[in-house]
Amino acid sequence: MTPADTPAPNKAPPARLSGRCLCGAVAFAVDARDLREPGLCHCSQCRRWSGHVWAAVNAPLGDFDILKGEDALTWFKSSEEARRGFCRECGSALFWHADGLAEHKDRMSVAMGALDAPTGLRLDGHIFVADKGDYYDIADGLPQKATF
Ligand SMILES: [Zn+2]
Repeated sequence: MTPADTPAPNKAPPARLSGRCLCGAVAFAVDARDLREPGLCHCSQCRRWSGHVWAAVNAPLGDFDILKGEDALTWFKSSEEARRGFCRECGSALFWHADGLAEHKDRMSVAMGALDAPTGLRLDGHIFVADKGDYYDIADGLPQKATF
C-alpha cells in the first residue's frame, strides 16, 4: 500500500474549516492549525443564548475570517467580559469573543454547529457544569469542569 492508500485512524480536520449561519447571510472560515477546546459550555448564558448547551471550538483571531455578511453579523455584549455574535437575519448563534479578558481577547470561540462537515473535530469536554440545566444528564464520559 502506498501512504495515500493507508486509511487514517482518525480524520484530521481540514486545514481550513468553513461555516455559515442558518440563512447563509454570514459565512466564515477558520484555519485549523491552532484550534483548542472543542467542548460544550453548560453556563446559563450559553444555554439561554443557544437554546441548550453551546458547542464551540476556539481559534486565534488571526486565523479567523468573516467571508461575507459583516453587515448581518451582530454583536451582543452579554457580560463585562464577553460579546456574542449572531446573524441578524436568522438568529444563528455563531461566535463568543471574550474581548474584555486579557487572556482570551486574541481568540474567538466558534459554534461547532455552524461548521461545514467534515470537521474532523471531536468534543473534548464540558465546562461550567456547576451551572448546567436540571433537565439533562451528562453521560458521555468526557472530562467535566465545574467552571472554566
Ligand atoms: Zn443568517
